[in-house]
Amino acid sequence: MECIFCKIAKKEIPSTLVYEDEKIVMFKDLNPIAPIHLLAVPKNHISSANEITTENSKIIAHIFEVIAKENKNLGLEDGYRIINNCGKLGGQTVEHIHFHIVGGKELSWAKL
Ligand code: AMP
Ligand code: ZN
Repeated sequence: MECIFCKIAKKEIPSTLVYEDEKIVMFKDLNPIAPIHLLAVPKNHISSANEITTENSKIIAHIFEVIAKENKNLGLEDGYRIINNCGKLGGQTVEHIHFHIVGGKELSWAKL
Protein backbone atom coordinates (compact mmCIF):
# COMPACT_ATOMS: atom_id res chain seq x y z
CA MET A 1 0.00 0.00 0.00
CA GLU A 2 1.47 3.30 -1.09
CA CYS A 3 1.57 6.23 1.24
CA ILE A 4 -0.86 9.14 1.12
CA PHE A 5 1.66 11.74 -0.10
CA CYS A 6 2.86 9.41 -2.89
CA LYS A 7 -0.80 9.18 -3.92
CA ILE A 8 -1.23 12.96 -3.82
CA ALA A 9 1.94 13.36 -5.93
CA LYS A 10 0.50 10.92 -8.51
CA LYS A 11 -2.94 12.63 -8.41
CA GLU A 12 -4.50 9.39 -7.23
CA ILE A 13 -6.13 11.33 -4.42
CA PRO A 14 -7.11 15.00 -4.65
CA SER A 15 -5.33 17.95 -3.08
CA THR A 16 -5.25 21.69 -3.61
CA LEU A 17 -2.02 21.95 -5.58
CA VAL A 18 -0.27 25.33 -5.52
CA TYR A 19 2.97 24.32 -7.27
CA GLU A 20 4.26 21.36 -9.23
CA ASP A 21 7.38 20.49 -11.21
CA GLU A 22 9.01 17.21 -12.23
CA LYS A 23 10.44 16.63 -8.75
CA ILE A 24 8.04 18.07 -6.15
CA VAL A 25 4.48 19.07 -5.38
CA MET A 26 3.22 21.74 -3.02
CA PHE A 27 -0.36 21.67 -1.79
CA LYS A 28 -2.54 23.14 0.96
CA ASP A 29 -2.55 21.35 4.30
CA LEU A 30 -5.99 19.90 5.09
CA ASN A 31 -5.86 21.22 8.68
CA PRO A 32 -4.16 24.62 8.45
CA ILE A 33 -2.49 26.08 11.54
CA ALA A 34 -2.02 29.52 9.94
CA PRO A 35 -3.74 31.56 7.16
CA ILE A 36 -1.23 30.05 4.72
CA HIS A 37 -0.21 26.45 5.39
CA LEU A 38 1.36 24.50 2.55
CA LEU A 39 3.19 21.21 2.38
CA ALA A 40 6.22 20.77 0.09
CA VAL A 41 6.70 17.12 -0.81
CA PRO A 42 9.20 15.32 -3.06
CA LYS A 43 7.53 13.04 -5.64
CA ASN A 44 9.98 10.27 -4.77
CA HIS A 45 9.27 8.55 -1.49
CA ILE A 46 11.66 9.43 1.36
CA SER A 47 10.24 8.43 4.74
CA SER A 48 11.62 11.19 6.93
CA ALA A 49 14.52 13.59 7.48
CA ASN A 50 16.33 10.61 8.99
CA GLU A 51 16.47 9.02 5.53
CA ILE A 52 18.31 11.91 3.84
CA THR A 53 21.58 10.67 2.34
CA THR A 54 24.34 11.96 0.08
CA GLU A 55 22.50 10.25 -2.80
CA ASN A 56 19.04 11.81 -2.29
CA SER A 57 19.76 15.12 -0.55
CA LYS A 58 19.60 17.28 -3.72
CA ILE A 59 15.82 17.22 -3.51
CA ILE A 60 15.95 19.04 -0.19
CA ALA A 61 17.93 21.92 -1.70
CA HIS A 62 15.46 21.93 -4.60
CA ILE A 63 12.51 22.31 -2.23
CA PHE A 64 14.15 25.30 -0.52
CA GLU A 65 15.06 26.84 -3.90
CA VAL A 66 11.46 26.56 -5.08
CA ILE A 67 10.15 28.14 -1.88
CA ALA A 68 12.59 31.02 -2.30
CA LYS A 69 11.70 31.48 -5.98
CA GLU A 70 7.93 31.17 -5.55
CA ASN A 71 7.48 32.98 -2.23
CA LYS A 72 5.73 36.01 -3.77
CA ASN A 73 3.41 33.86 -5.87
CA LEU A 74 2.48 31.94 -2.74
CA GLY A 75 1.66 35.07 -0.72
CA LEU A 76 4.71 34.65 1.50
CA GLU A 77 6.62 37.81 0.60
CA ASP A 78 6.48 39.19 4.16
CA GLY A 79 8.02 36.09 5.73
CA TYR A 80 7.17 32.53 6.62
CA ARG A 81 8.37 29.53 8.58
CA ILE A 82 9.51 26.15 7.23
CA ILE A 83 8.95 23.19 9.55
CA ASN A 84 9.89 19.54 9.32
CA ASN A 85 8.57 17.10 11.91
CA CYS A 86 10.69 13.95 12.17
CA GLY A 87 9.78 10.74 13.92
CA LYS A 88 7.51 9.99 16.84
CA LEU A 89 8.87 12.57 19.26
CA GLY A 90 9.03 15.15 16.48
CA GLY A 91 5.31 14.80 15.82
CA GLN A 92 5.56 13.26 12.34
CA THR A 93 2.23 11.68 11.38
CA VAL A 94 2.75 11.09 7.63
CA GLU A 95 5.81 8.96 6.87
CA HIS A 96 6.78 10.68 3.63
CA ILE A 97 9.13 13.62 4.16
CA HIS A 98 7.40 16.99 3.91
CA PHE A 99 8.08 20.58 4.81
CA HIS A 100 5.31 22.69 6.30
CA ILE A 101 5.39 26.27 5.05
CA VAL A 102 3.33 28.51 7.30
CA GLY A 103 2.68 32.22 7.05
CA GLY A 104 0.09 34.87 6.36
CA LYS A 105 0.32 36.27 9.88
CA GLU A 106 2.93 37.21 12.45
CA LEU A 107 4.02 33.91 13.95
CA SER A 108 4.82 33.53 17.61
CA TRP A 109 7.83 31.45 18.59
CA ALA A 110 6.50 28.31 20.20
CA LYS A 111 7.50 27.33 23.70
CA LEU A 112 8.01 23.59 23.30
P1 AMP B 1 3.17 15.87 10.15
O1 AMP B 1 2.40 15.84 11.44
O2 AMP B 1 4.35 16.78 10.18
O3 AMP B 1 3.49 14.48 9.65
O4 AMP B 1 2.20 16.57 9.12
C1 AMP B 1 1.26 15.90 8.34
C2 AMP B 1 0.34 16.96 7.80
O5 AMP B 1 -0.34 16.43 6.69
C3 AMP B 1 -0.72 17.46 8.80
O6 AMP B 1 -0.57 18.85 9.00
C4 AMP B 1 -2.03 17.09 8.11
O7 AMP B 1 -3.02 18.08 8.30
C5 AMP B 1 -1.62 16.99 6.65
N1 AMP B 1 -2.41 16.10 5.82
C6 AMP B 1 -2.73 14.81 6.07
N2 AMP B 1 -3.42 14.29 5.04
C7 AMP B 1 -3.56 15.28 4.13
C8 AMP B 1 -4.17 15.39 2.85
N3 AMP B 1 -4.82 14.35 2.27
N4 AMP B 1 -4.11 16.57 2.20
C9 AMP B 1 -3.48 17.62 2.75
N5 AMP B 1 -2.86 17.60 3.94
C10 AMP B 1 -2.91 16.45 4.62
ZN1 ZN C 1 5.34 8.28 -0.04
